[in-house]
Amino acid sequence: MDYFSTRSAREKVGAAEAIIRGLAPDGGLYVPERFPQFSAEDIAALGRLGYRERAARVMAPFLGEFSAEEVASLCSAAYADNFDSPGTAPVRFVDENTGYLELWHGPTSAFKDMALQMLPRLLTASLRKRGVELGVCILVATSGDTGKAALEGFADVPGTKIIVFYPRDGVSDVQRLQMVTQAGSNVNVCAVEGNFDDAQAGVKRIFSDRAFAELARGKGWFLSSANSINWGRLLPQIAYYFSAYCDFVNAGLIAPGESMNFCVPTGNFGNILAGWMAKRMGLPVERFICASNENNVLTDFISTGVYDRRREFHLTNSPSMDILVSSNLERLLYFLTGDCGKVSGWMAQLSEQGRYEVGEETLSKIKSEFSAGFCTGDGALAEIARVWAEHGYLIDTHTAVASAVLSAYRCGTGDDTPAAVVSTASPYKFCSAVLSALGENATAPGHELIGRLEGVTGVPAPANLAGLAGRGERFTLCVEPEGMAAAVGEFLSE
Ligand SMILES: *Cc1c(COP(=O)(O)O)cnc(C)c1O
Repeated sequence: MDYFSTRSAREKVGAAEAIIRGLAPDGGLYVPERFPQFSAEDIAALGRLGYRERAARVMAPFLGEFSAEEVASLCSAAYADNFDSPGTAPVRFVDENTGYLELWHGPTSAFKDMALQMLPRLLTASLRKRGVELGVCILVATSGDTGKAALEGFADVPGTKIIVFYPRDGVSDVQRLQMVTQAGSNVNVCAVEGNFDDAQAGVKRIFSDRAFAELARGKGWFLSSANSINWGRLLPQIAYYFSAYCDFVNAGLIAPGESMNFCVPTGNFGNILAGWMAKRMGLPVERFICASNENNVLTDFISTGVYDRRREFHLTNSPSMDILVSSNLERLLYFLTGDCGKVSGWMAQLSEQGRYEVGEETLSKIKSEFSAGFCTGDGALAEIARVWAEHGYLIDTHTAVASAVLSAYRCGTGDDTPAAVVSTASPYKFCSAVLSALGENATAPGHELIGRLEGVTGVPAPANLAGLAGRGERFTLCVEPEGMAAAVGEFLSE
């Protein structure tokens, strides 16, 4: 299976090379040249397997250079007892046509683990395939969740190092503690004086500094990133859509071959795109419902065909969806049009004018498979309270956005096709918002709120969050943005 860029189909590369490179040299994103097909029998067979085997069967056809056995062993290592549910990504059913697909049983209690427990293994295996003898050093700028999930993914993976930069005053108590207590001999965490954009700009400067790359090479390392435009992060996400479908069939909500819907809390458009790719591979899905918070650029795009990032940026209680440029939408636009020229043009308009408009033809294709809606911060809190009161089921703010948007979609359209709400974080990652949704006092340091939420609901907190307060802080370094390269240089010499 070969891959090429959304902006020019001329150069084809294998999966390993696409994963090593991350971004294509022309700035586009790598896409597979075709989608492997799964028949009704293939899907029925998946239904009889556990999560690791399901994931391996879904991923293997995309990884031409790897044998089925290699992919199976990567999946077995990625989805093991680092997940605190035997189902890895189980579905919690709440009524006869709704289930919550829980993607937060991994080591950091957020859905990024589904991809970031796999990516380091795929990346190091890809380096071996390509005969690259350098180690890989991952640089991450994070506004919170990605940094921790990447640290957990790469900690003690041979041949890798990882350094995470976070804005000193821009992450929550719990998020900071999660990062500075990270175990592992190859990890480093560094605060940056400034906001997320300063940290992000600093990392981009290091990536584009050729002299620095040479210096790193001289020390035996090449620099790479773990962000969500890498094909190696998207691919593992396709698997849980197949897995959820199998669970809906096994639970009797749908008959084999019957269609279901998915409602996905969306930021960078990676998660929902993985679902759409599963459909292209033969998974019976009727519609994808794209759920946003007040940063509802995608809601507008899916209803009008105009993508316009020139709008107010809102800080919300679902911060992982506070995004105005959804990078992975570029891949959908390529798949729907098959036209690299068009996609390049739109992306150029986006970066130069902050806006582009897809024509009627593309918009009608989007509308035939996607619906969209958004939910405010208060709406999310009300939804957390409703789901707790009606089902005794505790959800976080991101999941609540999707849950509320699904309810509104069903009321508005009368479409009560069985649907999965994709649940992207443990409610214990957002204790303060969840406690206030339940009408409880939420003023205390973050790690104390964990115990309080446990006391109020009786729902056990994930062990990784419950034990946070007792762990020693390992990383105290704080640098100016100009000092980031030096911090990386020093880390590479260790
Ligand atoms: C990253 C994230 C999202 C958004 O996912 P995308 O793939 O960027 O659309 C939603 N919820 C949570 C909790 C996340 O961490």
